[in-house]
Amino acid sequence: MLDGSAMSAIRRHAAAAYPQECCGALLGRADGRSRLVTAAWPLANTSQDDRQRRFTIGPRDYLNVEARALDEGVSLLGFYHSHPDAAAEPSQYDLLHAWPNIDYIIVSVVRAAPADVTCWRLRDDRVAFAREEIQWRPES
Ligand SMILES: [Zn+2]
Repeated sequence: MLDGSAMSAIRRHAAAAYPQECCGALLGRADGRSRLVTAAWPLANTSQDDRQRRFTIGPRDYLNVEARALDEGVSLLGFYHSHPDAAAEPSQYDLLHAWPNIDYIIVSVVRAAPADVTCWRLRDDRVAFAREEIQWRPES
């Protein structure tokens, strides 16, 4: 489950970063199988080669996110990134760099406008992603 405000933040960031990929962290609460993303924090895409086709989250940004999450009493549930002018499906690069047990949200951006949003988790055998259903509650 995703708060509408987090969904808006992801879509805004994806549009602003176009034609480069954006990336960020998904924060919220998890208990058992249910997860609620309450915030999306933008991070810098520090990829050294092709920022239109891949993203990298630097180790320092990652540590900062963990520290800030601890401060604010939320859990790091996953990461989001955008696919400029490409489908919202994980690439081979995404698969190779994915970690288990966290959510990956991908937002497709078509000519600077955010389009499909999908969510994925690495399968236990780590050879592919399983698609997760995204539910989100509208902003009040
Ligand atoms: Zn990707």
